[in-house]
Amino acid sequence: MHEERALLGRALDILAGPGDANEHLAAILAMVARVVGAMRAALVVDEPVRRVTVALAAGEAEDAGNPLAMWLDAHAPRSAARRAAAVAAPIGVARARAGARPTGAAGGATADATFFLIPVSAPGGVHMGVELRPGADTEAVTARLPVSTYRHLLVALELASSRATDERERAELRARDTERTRFVSMVAHELRTPLTGLGGYLDLLLEGRVTDPGVEREFLERGRRITEGMAELVGDLLEMSRIEAGSLGLKITQFSLAEACSHVVDGLVPLADAAGLRLVRALPPRLRPATGDGRRVEQIVTNLVANAIKYTARGGLVELEARAGGAVAFVVVRDDGPGIKNGDQARIFEPFVRLAGHERITGTGLGLPIARDLARAMRGDLGATSVPGTGSSFVLVLPGSADQDGSLVAAALATALEAEAFTLEERAVLAARRGPARAAVTPHDRDDGRILRPDVDPADDGSAA
Ligand code: ADP
Repeated sequence: MHEERALLGRALDILAGPGDANEHLAAILAMVARVVGAMRAALVVDEPVRRVTVALAAGEAEDAGNPLAMWLDAHAPRSAARRAAAVAAPIGVARARAGARPTGAAGGATADATFFLIPVSAPGGVHMGVELRPGADTEAVTARLPVSTYRHLLVALELASSRATDERERAELRARDTERTRFVSMVAHELRTPLTGLGGYLDLLLEGRVTDPGVEREFLERGRRITEGMAELVGDLLEMSRIEAGSLGLKITQFSLAEACSHVVDGLVPLADAAGLRLVRALPPRLRPATGDGRRVEQIVTNLVANAIKYTARGGLVELEARAGGAVAFVVVRDDGPGIKNGDQARIFEPFVRLAGHERITGTGLGLPIARDLARAMRGDLGATSVPGTGSSFVLVLPGSADQDGSLVAAALATALEAEAFTLEERAVLAARRGPARAAVTPHDRDDGRILRPDVDPADDGSAA
């Protein structure tokens, strides 16, 4: 009795002691594990959302407690509503403060370990499970402490767990706040740059420093293009906020992917012609339908093909391919442009990221983030791979049918991107055998007045005044 009281006293000391709630949780779980002779302990809480937390010792790998956590999630009773939903609960890891006593009876291999659900619970669907050495006597665990002590310990653990949830939510809110502030300052910067350019042209005209009517008209046209660019930026920002607010009004149906891709190509052939590029399509005649909002899919594919045209030099090739693969559908947009360095392939999906050398090509830097968000809103996904100097491939995956499992899409995207990387590498080898590559794109190759950004052209500024 004395020992049990001391144990509860220690749990309360931990709760009132230094460290955050997650560390308290780790320390109490480690203490229980030690007392009952287990290697580690984990807690599952069913309310308000089911979550499993497993305690790990300082040096242990992040996934060391997963077998116990998953076992506990599967074996601890769930409320009826959660039984119906039956999705795996998220697994959290709790680590004690550096220097604290190690978890339970110290790590070791978990193969063939014995898992045991302590047959006591506390309100809120709180249960505890432990991992014992292979063949350990589970009866001993129950016998070690009286039910009332277990129950008190569970109450202390529930308290630490709900505090940990609060702390986690506060940290997430803070991170979102910081992200939002950063975004607003990026938007302000993106708008100020063209505004400064526009102001400059207007000043020159208003001060009467432009005497040549031809130059005057040129400046007015540049001003017009700047406002068009700003309108495009504002349009993209509105689109982003609609996606974030979930107010896109997607019409998810089965639609013909071949038809959608054909529309896109038909609409962009003139742009490809003007840029001196070949735009080819590879659409199998009896392509199975895909699931999504057909109009939004056209928007994504248009963005990808327009990018391929924008960033590929004259004489290049842009291919649009659609195919079915198992339970999903793929759209691949491949170009033989400059390519994207390894470290940039993930970055280009972040807002306002534009790669070095592309500053003078018009764009908002929001096209790809919007395209990926749209794809994900339709339960699909979008990714890119590239071999610098050879070309880039963008792969859009869409579910084949409405009841598609999300994990299939992620796996299909990873496989398709690997295959694309292989295709591009093969091309690089073939191109190397054929001889020197085509010259890289420079803004002047594309000086057709449509692609260049009028607001970032320092060479021309005021020179005609
Ligand atoms: P935008 O084209 O408006 O700048 P995006 O978000 O569509 O914005 O693209 C972000 C950046 O990714 C582009 O600025 C460009 O640097 C790079 N990028 C996109 N597509 C390609 C491509 N096919 N080849 C090379 N770089 C590309």
